[in-house]
Formats: sequence, structure tokens, C-alpha cells
Amino acid sequence: MERRNFIGILGTAAVAAPVLGSAFAACSSESKKKIFTGHEFPNLPYAYDALEPIIDAKTMELHYDKHYRGYFEKFMAAAKETDAAASPMEEVFAKITQYDAAIRNNGGGYYNHSLFWENMSPEKTAISSALEKALAENFGSVDKFKETFATAAKTHFGSGWAWLAAGSDGKLFVTSTANQDNPLMNDSPKQGKPILALDVWEHAYYLKYQNRRPEYVDQFWNIVNWEEVSRRYDNV
Ligand code: MN
Repeated sequence: MERRNFIGILGTAAVAAPVLGSAFAACSSESKKKIFTGHEFPNLPYAYDALEPIIDAKTMELHYDKHYRGYFEKFMAAAKETDAAASPMEEVFAKITQYDAAIRNNGGGYYNHSLFWENMSPEKTAISSALEKALAENFGSVDKFKETFATAAKTHFGSGWAWLAAGSDGKLFVTSTANQDNPLMNDSPKQGKPILALDVWEHAYYLKYQNRRPEYVDQFWNIVNWEEVSRRYDNV
């Protein structure tokens, strides 16, 4: 009887520990962030046509409902037998080299797009004075930052992402990554916490802009959600 109880408790503890562990880590590193309760497929925070004419409704629908959903579902299938299923993505990326390519590519696709949807808005939003000051310190001015970011997005070869991120020293930097990689990955050449993400895969712009990626990048500034971007900066 005693022995059975003991095994029962151990069994429970063994299952619960990884979940509690990751929730605690997420909570202690970013106190404002909600506690991790499992991966979910987020709602798009606006209608498919909300970012017209800069991002057309058809592109948004295909991008969200086909590409993004595909990454999420494939990530969930690949994560099922690993601790990635019960870990916040930040923790998965911190040891991404330990996982297989399906988790890297689809986990990146799931996470990167979640940031991307949220850092765009149909509303006119204002940058915080803290982020404005930080961009001026790191790049010279907000306009200089935009130029640096846009150049990274326009010149990135092939599929990938442009990023504004904060390094562990608190300094802001611009970089681009291939495929669905991001600066949180432990083998990323430049590592940091993402603040602003721009998808430069052709599926993000080809229906409307065809081969004119620079035009898509320049138009992006009209739909940046500076409120969300400023909030991320506050949390790094
Ligand atoms: Mn995409």
C-alpha cells in the first residue's frame, strides 16, 4: 500500500516536473508574460483584409490559414514525442541544435509568424520614447534604423526573415536569417531577443508585389505596430 502510493507520487512528479519547470522559467525571466500553458494556434489579430492595400486579403488568408497553420501542425506532430511539446519556444530555440530539422523549421515557422502578425496593425500606432531613444543610440535615428532594417530585408538572399533584436548586452541590432531560423536559436550567428520581424519569403508578398520585394519592404513601415514593438523592447 505504502509502496504503491510512493510510486504514484513519483509518477506524477515525473510527468509534472518538465511542465512546471518551463512555466516557472518563463515566469521568472519575464514577469509580465503569461505563464506557459501549452502551444496553441493564435487567432489573427485582425481581418484578412485589414492591412489592405499594403498586404492584400488573399495573401493574408493563404499566409495565415495555409502556410502558418501548416508550420504549427507539423511542429506539433514533430514535438509530440519530445520535451518541445511542453516548453515555451524560447526554451526550444535555446537548444535548437538538439532537435531535428522538423522542429527547427516548423517551430521557427510557428513562432516567427506569431511575432510577425502581432507586429503589424491597421491602426496608426506610436513608438515609445524609450524605444525611440534606443534606436537613436544604436543606429543614429529611427530613420537610420529603418534604412538598415530595410536593406537587410531587401538584400537577404532567398527565403528568410529580417529582424530587429536585442543582444544580451542590451544593444539593439539588425540581422536577417535564412528559412525559418531566428536570432533566439543557439546557433544563430547573431543572437538576441526579437523585437521586430519581417517575413521576406516570396509567399509573403508575391501575389501583389511579384518580384518587387523592395516595394513590399518599403510599404511595411505603414503597417508596423509600434505599440507592440515598443512593448517587446520594454520586456527585453
Ligand atoms: Mn511566411
